[in-house]
Amino acid sequence: MPVLMKLIEGHQSSGVDIKLNNTTTYNFDSESFRYLAAYKNGVDQGNRDDYTRSWERSVQETFRMLQHIQSLVPHPIASTASLNAARKLITDLTIPMADISRNISINIQLNQDESARLADSKAKGKKLEDELMVNRIDLETHELAQPVTVCGNSACIEVNTNSDGNQVTNYKQRCHKPCYLENIRTDTLNTAELIGCAAMSNGDCRVCGHNYTEHMHVMYEHKEVKRQVEDVTIRQLLNTALSDEDKRAAAVSVRNLLIEEYREEQEQIDIAGAKFGFYLKHNSITPYNDARVQYIHHQIQQEKNKLGVLASEHMSPANQEARRKTEEIIDSLMVTMAAYEEYDRMLEEAMKRGAATRTGDVPLSGPDDIEREVKKLYALKHFGKQLENIKKKVVHKHQAARHEVTYQVPQGGHKWSSKNWVKSAYNKFQNGI
Ligand SMILES: [Zn+2]
Ligand SMILES: [Zn+2]
Ligand SMILES: [Zn+2]
Repeated sequence: MPVLMKLIEGHQSSGVDIKLNNTTTYNFDSESFRYLAAYKNGVDQGNRDDYTRSWERSVQETFRMLQHIQSLVPHPIASTASLNAARKLITDLTIPMADISRNISINIQLNQDESARLADSKAKGKKLEDELMVNRIDLETHELAQPVTVCGNSACIEVNTNSDGNQVTNYKQRCHKPCYLENIRTDTLNTAELIGCAAMSNGDCRVCGHNYTEHMHVMYEHKEVKRQVEDVTIRQLLNTALSDEDKRAAAVSVRNLLIEEYREEQEQIDIAGAKFGFYLKHNSITPYNDARVQYIHHQIQQEKNKLGVLASEHMSPANQEARRKTEEIIDSLMVTMAAYEEYDRMLEEAMKRGAATRTGDVPLSGPDDIEREVKKLYALKHFGKQLENIKKKVVHKHQAARHEVTYQVPQGGHKWSSKNWVKSAYNKFQNGI
C-alpha cells in the first residue's frame, strides 16, 4: 500500500487524481488458492474453515470489482491516439520554432543594418542597385551522416565568418563520433542523458575535459544562407526616374515595412509556442518539462559562448561589429524568453477566468486546435515555409523520445468492448465456468 500511494502521489502534481477508497481497492487472498492446489495434489494443510472463509471473501471481492468495472464509462481510445499525435507534433516543432524565431531576429537586424547603410551610402549605378535589393537569411537544416557529441565551451568552439559576413559557431571539438545514444534531446546544451556518452567519465569529458552539461548531441547541421528576395516595389523602383536619394529613401521604407511584418510573424510563432507548451502542461499525464524554455536558455548560452570567443580575439572593426550583433541577438532572446513566460502566465489567468487573454487568444482545447494552429504557422508569408521544411527534416527515425507501436486489432468475429468483456467474465464467474 505505501508503494502504491507513492506511485499515485507522483501523478497528482500533473492533475491526475486517483482515489484510494472502498470502490477502487479490492482484497484477494492467495492462501486459500494455495490450499486448494495442495489439496488437489493430496496434501491437506488443515484449518479448512479458515481457508473456506478466505476463499469466499475473495470471490465476493471479485464480484464487487467486476460490478464496479461494469459501471464505468469506457474511455475513448481514439481520443488518446490523437492526443499522442498532437503531443508529437508539438514536440517535433518546439526546436524548429525557436530556431525560426531566432532567425527572424537575425533578419530584423539585417534589415536595420541595411537601412542604416543606405542612409549613409553614396553608391551609384550598379552598386546602388545592389544596395537597394532586399536580402533574407534563410535557415537550412541538413541531417549529418552520423550523429556526434560536440562540446560547446568557448575553448572548444570557433567562430567563423561565413560568405555573407555573418558569424557562425563551428563546433570543432567532436568528442564522440559517431555517438549513437538513444532517446536523447538533440542540438541542446545541458542534456542530462549525455552523462551516458562513452566520452564521459564521472560527468567530465575524457577528450576535452569539460563537463557533460557543456556538450550536446548533434544530428543536424544548420546553415544560414543569405538570399536576395524578389521585391516588387524595389523592382519598380529601379525603373523609375527618381533621384538616388529618393530611391534610397523608398528602399528604407520597404525595409521598415518588412521589419514590421517579420516582427508580427515572430510574435505569432512565439505565442503559438507558448500555447503549445501550455497545452502540454495541462494535458500530460507525466510531469511536464518545458522544452521550449530549456531551448531558449540553450540558445542564449550558445550566443554567450560565441561572445566569449569574440572577446578573446583581436579587437578589429569587424570583431566589434560581430560582438555588437551577437549582443543584440542575446538581447532579443532574453526578450523572447520574457514574452514567453508572460504569455504563459496570461494563458493561465485566461483559463481560470474562462475568458480570452489580453491579445484575444484562448488556450488550445484539443488536437484539432493544434493542427489548425500549425497550419496557420506554415502559411506565414515570410517564414512559414522555412519552418515547415525544418520540421520535416527533424522528424526522423532517431528522434524516438517515445516509441509507440500500433497494433491493428483483427476485425470481425467478436466485438471487443470493455463492457462486453467484463460482462462475459462476470457471467462465467457466476455460472462457475
Ligand atoms: Zn570542451
Ligand atoms: Zn557518445
Ligand atoms: Zn568533450
